[in-house]
Amino acid sequence: MMNDPNEITFRKSVDLMFDRATATMDLPLGLAEQIRSCNSVYQVQFGVKLGDSYEVFTGWRAVHSEHILPVKGGIRYADFANQDEVEALAALMSYKCAIVMIPFGGSKGALKIDPRQYSEKDLEKITRRFAQELAKRDLIHPSLNVPAPDMGTGEREMGWISDTYQSLFPGQANGMGCVTGKPVHLGGINGRVEATGRGVQFGLREYFRHPDDIARARLDGSLEGKRIIVQGLGNVGYHAAKFLSEEDGAKITGIIERDGAISSADGLDVEAVKAHIATNHGVKGFPGADYTGNGPAMLEAECDILIPAAMEGVISLQNAAKIQAPLIAEAANGPVTYAADEILREKGTVIIPDAYLNAGGVTVSYFEWVKNLARIRFGYLERRNEERRGQMLVEALEKMLNTTVPQEIRDQLTTGSDELALVRSGLDDTMRNAYNNIRDIFNAREKVVDLRTAAFVCGIERIAKRYESMGI
Ligand code: GLU
Repeated sequence: MMNDPNEITFRKSVDLMFDRATATMDLPLGLAEQIRSCNSVYQVQFGVKLGDSYEVFTGWRAVHSEHILPVKGGIRYADFANQDEVEALAALMSYKCAIVMIPFGGSKGALKIDPRQYSEKDLEKITRRFAQELAKRDLIHPSLNVPAPDMGTGEREMGWISDTYQSLFPGQANGMGCVTGKPVHLGGINGRVEATGRGVQFGLREYFRHPDDIARARLDGSLEGKRIIVQGLGNVGYHAAKFLSEEDGAKITGIIERDGAISSADGLDVEAVKAHIATNHGVKGFPGADYTGNGPAMLEAECDILIPAAMEGVISLQNAAKIQAPLIAEAANGPVTYAADEILREKGTVIIPDAYLNAGGVTVSYFEWVKNLARIRFGYLERRNEERRGQMLVEALEKMLNTTVPQEIRDQLTTGSDELALVRSGLDDTMRNAYNNIRDIFNAREKVVDLRTAAFVCGIERIAKRYESMGI
């Protein structure tokens, strides 16, 4: 956490990362300032009657850059939420969307609340009221501003927001696209829940396809057998850890949660840890693992890849010099402060930056939004046609070669793509392309000192082009 008096705020930290990138670029005078500044922030205070009493809540929605509409970004529920944080996160959304070439501007919202302290019924009432406040000012709108889940929110809240918006503004063909991350039966898309974690996996896979990049982090080989420490087993951390261990052969040697951290040199079973947390409200007591009550200390433990997937500012001036991981994969937004980033670079630590690596969520949100506007599910028209073509191919092969195509290959060729397969394919493509765009900038430009600066340059260049063509 950024509680060191020498540490600047989250917003300032993101701005300094931006400045480091623009210092290597040749932007027209004033354009960097125009892109960097947060266009507007709306703060709302609203009362909700809960039981016999009234409670007043504070919320924000920041719009950072409107070079493309709608603007996009999640709504966070956290008791520590504040305006500086929301502005920082909105800025990251602008750069993130530009880096992965998703046609949205950047926005972010937050409600200052600890959702664990409220019943589902009360949370619904609060969420609907907050949604009304934002929708009244077009801060929820399918063409202007499209929220999504973030820390402390998920499908359930997005369903309430969608219903609230559509009740307020009925008769809009695009109404369902007012928010993404909805349950599939309410217009959501298959694969959105795990999208950010899946994106982290795809991003790391792409990183490990480049031997030079792997060597820069003093590592070798593939993801197979790599020791990973994950901070936060929420939606993003859980899915990233699950996929990397179950599908890529990585070993989750440490998991950090609110109540402490557990470790095991043999690797932890992510599903079992998740189940343990659900019943015990923490990792303490997980069988067969070592436990420490000092969770943050495990960020400093030896491993190959450190995945902070919890919140901003966890790697700061206080612990940066002690981080042993040679590779940090930023699954959370802003986990490394600007000052820590400088220290880690000096040490030779490689960081795959948040604005690229956690873009899987907004990427699949984009697919969901397109689906809502098109009002048709992906794969609906082509699936059976693909299967028929596959069948014809199998038959032709068998006839020409006078042999039988093995069942496994036959099954693969004759299975058409459904929505989930298409979402995964689009996400994989996005993560691969964006990484290559970033590494090309890093390799080609001497003044670009690391992957984060390269990612910022990549995103800022695209936003700048847009502004320049618009004549602003
Ligand atoms: N809250 C997520 C993020 O930080 C997702 C945003 C979205 O899907 O719009 O990227």
